[in-house]
Amino acid sequence: MAKQKTKYTKVELKKFEANILAKMAEVNQSIEGVRSTTKPTNSVFIQERSEDFNEGTEAHEVEKNFLLMSRESDYLVNLQKALQRIKDGTYGICEISTKTPEKCESPDCPLISKERLMEVPNATKGVFCKEKKKLNLI
Ligand SMILES: [Zn+2]
Repeated sequence: MAKQKTKYTKVELKKFEANILAKMAEVNQSIEGVRSTTKPTNSVFIQERSEDFNEGTEAHEVEKNFLLMSRESDYLVNLQKALQRIKDGTYGICEISTKTPEKCESPDCPLISKERLMEVPNATKGVFCKEKKKLNLI
């Protein structure tokens, strides 16, 4: 087997950190948007998930905003955890590989691919591992 990289370098981690911080700023802005208006248009989450919601009454609007805020706060918490992992030097390493290495079989594992981490900075598992975990195969 080819020798595989099992950790990202400091330089790479710096890039990921900048990416996480940018996402956090985005989420914070979006939460501010929800707070200051009942019809936020600047939320990335609304754009992505607008199909989840029907146009509704003001009560719906409030509920929707509440959902959004809690979703985005969860996301923020996860991003903070990701920052912590950067500090610990464990960022980008598939969780499954530390717990059950024999089951960690994504092509990019044990390192989560850069593309995926830029896209989903709070990812803790390689993409196959995540799917398998979902299906309770791990
Ligand atoms: Zn894995």
